[in-house]
Amino acid sequence: MNIEKLIRPHIRDLKPYSSARDEYHGGAEIYLDANENPFEQPARVNRYPDPVQTALKNELAKRKGVDCEEIFVGNGSDEALDVLVRTIIEPNKDEILICPPTYGMYTVLAEIHQSKILRVPLTTEFELDTEAVLRAITPNTKIIFLCSPNNPTGNLLPTESIERLLTNANSLVVIDEAYIDFASFSGWIERIREFPNLMVLQTFSKAWGLAGLRVGMLYGNRTIISAMNKVKYPYNVNTISQHQALRALTEDDEVRGNVNSILSERERLTKALKSLPSVVNVYPSESNFLLVQVSDASKIYKELCSKGIIVRDRSKELHCMQCLRITIGTPEENTKLLSELEKL
Ligand SMILES: *Cc1c(COP(=O)(O)O)cnc(C)c1O
Repeated sequence: MNIEKLIRPHIRDLKPYSSARDEYHGGAEIYLDANENPFEQPARVNRYPDPVQTALKNELAKRKGVDCEEIFVGNGSDEALDVLVRTIIEPNKDEILICPPTYGMYTVLAEIHQSKILRVPLTTEFELDTEAVLRAITPNTKIIFLCSPNNPTGNLLPTESIERLLTNANSLVVIDEAYIDFASFSGWIERIREFPNLMVLQTFSKAWGLAGLRVGMLYGNRTIISAMNKVKYPYNVNTISQHQALRALTEDDEVRGNVNSILSERERLTKALKSLPSVVNVYPSESNFLLVQVSDASKIYKELCSKGIIVRDRSKELHCMQCLRITIGTPEENTKLLSELEKL
């Protein structure tokens, strides 16, 4: 397939803004090229950040087995998605396909950018309906958003279904792997060269515990990534976020420990919840949250609120009747949650 044809023509031809730090790379003694203030201040942020996040991308590339040119780093993965949509979608013409119930940002982004939205629901078992997706797409369907493990349902989408989409659709297939570090599957990044239309989204916000830094990555075909780099703001990821994300990658022992604790708490919470009379079903989870069907979601939601415990009521989502989405907390938080639910 012709990947370049997926890019909006005026973006393909766009001459990007060229910042001072784009024009001169490498070390120098004296920088008088960016109108910065030369006097260092306590946080050492008197200089503009690296516009292409070289150090962070080098480390990500090494860990993921890809080239830096196959990585886009965004101010959170939300920015990566926004830049992708702005790079690809012609307003009032192109279409984005989503599979509800899923992450709400895809719809919001599509609406902001005046993309048509094709909705092909997951089955009642939250499985991908590949045949229905293939029937629904048109020549204007430019992006298919899949979320695996899916938010709010927690399950992985099957490899064979996704492979079938990748081979048969002429759209970009974006797999949102925000929760992949909690899953029993290593993810899709290793296959981006096999499928030129495959893009994989990851983030520092969940397993890495750095939601406040706002750093997210989109991995994929270098033609798309390079077009996205023209569209993004020149200094989109700030200096402190770049440093802290890089540091997290090189000192990941604590992260691993936290993920293991969340995984064992997921087991404990699943078992304990299933034994409660107010709980109808706990869906299997490959993520750091549980989708829990209860007897009366809005009542239990309010009662938990009144005890100072906030969960997410997802009852209004397709196929999620009477469902709460509960994030796995610390062992103490989970114990408190269980004891409040037992009292109901
Ligand atoms: C939390 C989440 C993200 C992460 O967004 P950031 O902007 O990187 O914090 C992305 N996708 C899904 C499905 C999520 O639940």
